[in-house]
Amino acid sequence: MELQNLKGVGEKTIELLYEANIYNLNDLIEYYPYRYQFVIPQNLKEADFNKVITINARIVETGKVSYVKKNLNILRFKVIVNDNVISVVIFNRAFLSRNLKVNQDIILTGKYDENKRIFVASNLKFGMLTKTQIIPVYHKIKGIREATFLKIVKEAFNECDFVDYVPSYLQEKYQFISKKQASYQLHFPKTEEEITLARQRLVYEELFVFLFKIQMLKIMKNEGVMVEKNFSKEKIEKFICGLPFKLTKDQLNGINDGLADFALKKRMNRLLLGDVGSGKTIVAVVLMYANFLAGYQSAFMAPTEILAVQHFYSVNNFMKKYDVVVELLVGSMSKKEKDKVLERVLNGEVDILIGTHAILNENLHFKNLGFVITDEQHRFGVKARNNLQEKGVKPDVLFMSATPIPRTYALTLYGDMDTTIIKEKPNGRKEVITKIVKETDLKIVLYHVLKEIKMNHQVYVVAPMIIDNNDSELKNVNLLAEKFKLAFNDKVPIGILHGKLSSKEKDDVMNKFKNGELKILISTTVIEVGVDVKDATTIIIFNAERFGLATLHQLRGRVGRNDLQSYCYLICNNDVKRLQVLEESNDGFYISEKDFEMRGEGDLFGERQSGDMAFRIADIRKDYEILLKAKNDVMEWINKKEYQKVPSFQKIMEQLKFNN
Ligand code: ADP
Ligand code: MG
Repeated sequence: MELQNLKGVGEKTIELLYEANIYNLNDLIEYYPYRYQFVIPQNLKEADFNKVITINARIVETGKVSYVKKNLNILRFKVIVNDNVISVVIFNRAFLSRNLKVNQDIILTGKYDENKRIFVASNLKFGMLTKTQIIPVYHKIKGIREATFLKIVKEAFNECDFVDYVPSYLQEKYQFISKKQASYQLHFPKTEEEITLARQRLVYEELFVFLFKIQMLKIMKNEGVMVEKNFSKEKIEKFICGLPFKLTKDQLNGINDGLADFALKKRMNRLLLGDVGSGKTIVAVVLMYANFLAGYQSAFMAPTEILAVQHFYSVNNFMKKYDVVVELLVGSMSKKEKDKVLERVLNGEVDILIGTHAILNENLHFKNLGFVITDEQHRFGVKARNNLQEKGVKPDVLFMSATPIPRTYALTLYGDMDTTIIKEKPNGRKEVITKIVKETDLKIVLYHVLKEIKMNHQVYVVAPMIIDNNDSELKNVNLLAEKFKLAFNDKVPIGILHGKLSSKEKDDVMNKFKNGELKILISTTVIEVGVDVKDATTIIIFNAERFGLATLHQLRGRVGRNDLQSYCYLICNNDVKRLQVLEESNDGFYISEKDFEMRGEGDLFGERQSGDMAFRIADIRKDYEILLKAKNDVMEWINKKEYQKVPSFQKIMEQLKFNN
């Protein structure tokens, strides 16, 4: 069954779901909460008044509303809580006043001001909380309310076929609950234990399938299905000489590894692992040029549209001297534009096609695809690539990842998959000077920003994260923008980027920042990994303590993209110790070692940011034990050869072989 057949899912919703990379029922069900909130009703007398608390209350006097401004109204009423009558204040909920009745039980969330005996509520629900309530927290899907989302998910559970990949003897060994049950428990948990069991089960399966695919790719590579590619070495050397910069030794190694793969009568199956800013793209570019010289088309896939467009411009720039035709295919193009590109790809008029993995959902056929590159592959694992169907030869495959992981983990994950590591930073690159700064010392940072802007440099600001309230994302960005405007007398052009903007608006802002019209870009959490703005020399990250080291390092990689000295300010109020690793080092591999060493710190469902390794559910840092088990089990399973008889695994095999 398709998404659009679900009750309540119209065309508009479909579009929004696609934007969140949800294309079918499985994607929908696998859109798991990234965190859970455990709400316990508190006793007013014992509560910590600095914190947001939840209390049971009973209404004793119904509401009065005062309308303060156009966008501000205040609802006040009285309740009894633990035998005390207190006042409740709640903003912008005038509409609730009609529903309040004396003697009604309500659940209030907010902060209590003991002196004034006023409870300032941020949320009000009807009913009474008797035990701990578990509230799943999802990454918001723009335009879809959570209640609606949950309704659709519930509906999907009735319609979806669950393919259980874990072989039955392993199901028994670990006494796993069924996949359907596990998925359901993650969305609608009753107890904490339900979450833990469900999670273990699904993490195991995700890793099991991932490892199976990697292992199979490795085996199939040696089946010799590929022709060797012939290309002129001189032309490639000339191409490299024509580049605007001198390649680093690591980059040259990467290129040579790739060229050697091409020349073999085997299929390339290579992982290009390189720190942010190490210059992976150019390695891909040279290899695509070689693939072109050999007479084949290339496909280059990026995780997001912004990145695809950026790759398109830079690849085009490198290629235009050489009559290589580069085209872009992304979701936001009109059907007509897409069809035209598709036709030209089929006719062989396009040499290099660059797009998001959304292009994989199109009816895409190449004349003679010879090379597939997947950038930032951790975002979607081995899955996306498998949908790419083509006629003719089996293409060579290169994964690029900017997520450095310690060697032992890489080995477990990728086995003996061919790996090229780029460590060295391009010449003249300076280390990003990183400082941890308390929020109360923000002045220091503002002075610095002013200095940089006078030199015509640009600044990224990552806004503080507050997760409890739906609108706070927006509020934070706007508040911060006001603050910066004030600090610079409104003389510095500031742009803001947040989830409520349409993709066109986002592109607009991004482009203005890229071409220097905007000097400061304030955005929520994540500026796309891989965005490249040369004059950006400073990044300021608020609430840095909420991010993992790897994510912070990725974010920091947005600056220091040329030979200018760059700076990173980590604004935080506690947990400074962990972040010192970033002050000490700019080496992504070192940082990831440290990050992994500290695994297990924090709770099981710590926040995960995009940019971290994005398995749907597994976190190899925390789930390392499960990873090791799954690895053993996969090897055993492959040796048994029984997978050849299991339909779900036959299907995986088919996908891996790129069969039409
Ligand atoms: P990443 O590995 O993060 O994907 P990119 O490929 O985007 O890095 O490269 C980062 C920037 O460095 C780009 O602007 C690129 O043009 C530039 N660059 C790449 N290699 C070199 C080099 N050898 N010398 C100077 N600049 C380089
Ligand atoms: Mg990149």
